[in-house]
Amino acid sequence: MKRIAVFPGSFDPITKGHEDIILRAIPLFDEIIVAIGTNSSKNYYFDLEKRLEMIRYTFRNEPKIKAETYTGLTVDYCKQVNATHLLRGLRTSADFEFERSIAHINQTLYPELDTVFLLSLQEYSAINSTIVRDILFNGGDASRFVPDGLDLSK
Ligand code: ADP
Repeated sequence: MKRIAVFPGSFDPITKGHEDIILRAIPLFDEIIVAIGTNSSKNYYFDLEKRLEMIRYTFRNEPKIKAETYTGLTVDYCKQVNATHLLRGLRTSADFEFERSIAHINQTLYPELDTVFLLSLQEYSAINSTIVRDILFNGGDASRFVPDGLDLSK
């Protein structure tokens, strides 16, 4: 059976922390789908097309990695694409507590899907998309926190 992982998130924008987790997961899976979940009630900094384009650009040389969008429950999307695993990154114990409750709910909703956690690199553990957006919003240079060569203009 093909091992297909879904890495869900908003990726507003993708950061070096996300990139690192995804790259380190490559040897574990046959395919990794970086999936942007869309929530119409949420306001995003970058529009969906731009977020998708940034992920595709980041992994342009990685044939195992795809970027897609989805609506609705993450587990339903995982079923739809025959995912065997859900991939998540852990930065802190707070991440762990949050992720544990989601993973337990997902186990109930879709027992065949296993959640796999990879620990972030220490140097990336303080990076998150909210901080990157704050820097951009205030006219700062956020390039060191996002994958190399990304165009951060809207
Ligand atoms: P959302 O924006 O929907 O909250 P995130 O972009 O925060 O989604 O997170 C998607 C996944 O990436 C989560 O598993 C999260 O723990 C992980 N992640 C986010 N930032 C980092 C980082 N700096 N290092 C490792 N994992 C990270």
